[in-house]
Amino acid sequence: MARIVQKYGGTSVGDVERIKNVAQRIKAFRAEGHELVVVVSARSGVTNELIARAQALCANPSEREMDQLLAVGEQETIALTAMALHGVGVDAVSYTGAQAGIFTDKVHTKAKIKTINAAPVIADLKAGKVVIVAGFQGINEEGQVTTLGRGGSDLTAIALAAAVQADKCEIYTDVDGVYTADPRVVKNAKKLDEISYDEMLELASLGSKVMQTRSVEFAAKYNVVFEVRSSFNTNPGTIVKQEVAYMEKVVVRGVAVDKDQAKVVVSNIADKPGTAAKVFRALADANINVDMIVQNIGRGGLANLTFTVPLTEKAKAQLTLAPVLKEVGGDVAVDEGIAKLSVVGVGMRTHSGVAATLFDALAKAGINLELISTSEIKISVVIAKDKADEAARVAHAAFGLG
Ligand code: ADP
Ligand code: ASP
Ligand code: MG
Repeated sequence: MARIVQKYGGTSVGDVERIKNVAQRIKAFRAEGHELVVVVSARSGVTNELIARAQALCANPSEREMDQLLAVGEQETIALTAMALHGVGVDAVSYTGAQAGIFTDKVHTKAKIKTINAAPVIADLKAGKVVIVAGFQGINEEGQVTTLGRGGSDLTAIALAAAVQADKCEIYTDVDGVYTADPRVVKNAKKLDEISYDEMLELASLGSKVMQTRSVEFAAKYNVVFEVRSSFNTNPGTIVKQEVAYMEKVVVRGVAVDKDQAKVVVSNIADKPGTAAKVFRALADANINVDMIVQNIGRGGLANLTFTVPLTEKAKAQLTLAPVLKEVGGDVAVDEGIAKLSVVGVGMRTHSGVAATLFDALAKAGINLELISTSEIKISVVIAKDKADEAARVAHAAFGLG
């Protein structure tokens, strides 16, 4: 008998038939005697629909009200999943994030989990109930509903696995595991048997939506080993765990593409100490995530700064920069027609020539590099958005990942 936390994503609970399928799977685990905490997402598409409705009513909806709204998606699926279990004779109870004791900080729409009071959930498990918990949501110290950022049900599952000291944490999704690239884009992408936290973290933050970035950070911090696998079959998935020595033998573990980025060019600003500091201080104070910064010197004591921001923060970045540019001079232009392509692998630490291989392959395909950045275990380039899928296939082939 094991204590297992399972998370079923939006597609896996996408309609009544799929919820029935999930209930049958849970029933089978219960029959083996396991204790189960089950985290579910909203049905696929529901969160996006709710966001669209909010935006149709208000150009800049309050973040508190957004959280009230978006928490509804998961609240529907917990109740339906519990009912489906009752329908097949399994004792189950559903909880919202608040009811499950998930306490967060006050940052609406991207709250961080501070503590989990798991005692009631554990009591239910001991009483033989399957506990169904709404993913993606919690409550803050003022009693306000919060959400954990897009894809946040992954985080709920991993944090609960730590809190209830689960023997296993399983993330059930619509693909068989973590692949060398998005299998919908790169047809010959291969499922990985295992991957290190650091590699998974880079792939997630660089655009592989299979796991939420913050959930991987949390797993690494609390050493929660988890498996990403399919809810539609029983194939073994991908184990995500601490790095082990042999992982360095593979130079590139995977390729990620992020099409949800914008390139910001701040041109003709004064080339003197403090200008860049003013620009990036303003962006940091507005909580805008800046990446891939490049500065070039222009003519006549002027400089250009180029960087990327998430597409969702584009308007906020422009608003934030306007007063700064009044002060230091210069203009701002935003290009949405870009994508970030990255290759990731812990083996890069001990192998050379990775950048050259990538740049050669992209050059042969006629793909232009607009920005480049590297770290110990990744290389990222900004390219035209309409070349992104092709670039992913080219990079994947260049490192023999297929
Ligand atoms: P869920 O709703 O179950 O949370 P997501 O849509 O968030 O599922 O994540 C699963 C999707 O992630 C897959 O359908 C796949 O298209 C995409 N994906 C992107 N990169 C990868 C990758 N490297 N490996 C597996 N899936 C990936
Ligand atoms: N429903 C939320 C989203 O679509 C959370 C999740 O699915 O993990 O982002
Ligand atoms: Mg997801």
